[in-house]
Amino acid sequence: MANTAREDLELLAAPGHPNVIAMPLVFQVDSQGQPRPKLRCDACGGMIEDYTGGIVLWDRQGETPGGVLEPTFHCGGCAAKAGGAPPGSMPLDLFMLYLVNNIHLSPGVLEQAGGSVKTTANL
Ligand SMILES: [Zn+2]
Repeated sequence: MANTAREDLELLAAPGHPNVIAMPLVFQVDSQGQPRPKLRCDACGGMIEDYTGGIVLWDRQGETPGGVLEPTFHCGGCAAKAGGAPPGSMPLDLFMLYLVNNIHLSPGVLEQAGGSVKTTANL
């Protein structure tokens, strides 16, 4: 019998699979049963409900051509508790804009997607 998607994820996350890490990008199901995409704070584990003060960190020492770096997300509260944004971090709003730009998601494409997400995601 085939594993469910959850069982597959649990197997991947099992000890002995060092290449698998927790993903801060998740879906949180709201009170109406609607999955909502969210970012989870890697420091407190809470959902980042507001970008304000949020930051993204990564291993700046690992910035070598062709390298793949795993970012760490911190909510505004955790960033403030740690003394503010450390050098080399990126504000969450700038990171999201940078991401959208790097996958060639133009304003026109976003506008088109906005029309269809309202019908498919019941926003
Ligand atoms: Zn936090």
